[in-house]
Amino acid sequence: MPAPRVYKAEGIVLKGRELGEADRIVTLLTPQYGKLRAVAKGVRKPRSRLAGNLEPLTHVAVLVAHGQSLDIISQAQTLEAFRPLREDLWRLSCGLYLAELVERFTVEGAEGHPVYQLLLETLTRLALATREELLLRSFEIELLDHLGFRPELGQCIACRRALEPVENFFSPGGGGMACPGCRYKVGLTRPVTVEALKVLRLLQRRDATTLARLRLRRALAAEVELLLREYIAYILEHDVQSTVFLDRLRREAAAPPAGGRPAAPTG
Ligand SMILES: [Zn+2]
Repeated sequence: MPAPRVYKAEGIVLKGRELGEADRIVTLLTPQYGKLRAVAKGVRKPRSRLAGNLEPLTHVAVLVAHGQSLDIISQAQTLEAFRPLREDLWRLSCGLYLAELVERFTVEGAEGHPVYQLLLETLTRLALATREELLLRSFEIELLDHLGFRPELGQCIACRRALEPVENFFSPGGGGMACPGCRYKVGLTRPVTVEALKVLRLLQRRDATTLARLRLRRALAAEVELLLREYIAYILEHDVQSTVFLDRLRREAAAPPAGGRPAAPTG
């Protein structure tokens, strides 16, 4: 039976790329078709009925027609715009970071239901929550789980012994922790404090009750974040671009108001 010429899909807009004068290639994550790239024709014209429904991070229902190279979005209806995300630059940037991660980790045409569900839930919580950092870390750990990159955090990846409560070592290439005795057998590693390992395990167990009570010191939060960032970059063989912007926003928020202006370049 030939595929229908027109099909319906529900999805979350991950990104858009301008095409020609008035069109845009929109990348969506859908539960049925995984990542879907389709053209929104005329979306950049002032009176387009598609415009506003296909901005990144919009949960949308679309009607898509099979096209020669790319499919074509003929209708789009917003199911949820996640407005609070759009009213706050920091939360918007967090959302765009999630979208970039998903965009990079998923492929077109493969069913994407668990990741879709995870992204939808996380965006919903991001629009409500104030603890964005922890939400991002939970998302990263859970995404790695779904995609088959669950890091080994319980035992040493080389000797298989349970890890002692001392400084241990994370090996991105080995996909998990190594004990001090095995650290040189597993490629490049980074040291991991006892506390950071504890936090990573809580995240991996999805221990919501404990996580809700957790208050991370800045240094500890940064340690957990950098470890996951390095692991993700290793798997993707690429840095995640939007982390640069997240880092910049954080630096600006930490700077005293009078020092908010960047220093003039020298030389
Ligand atoms: Zn070992």
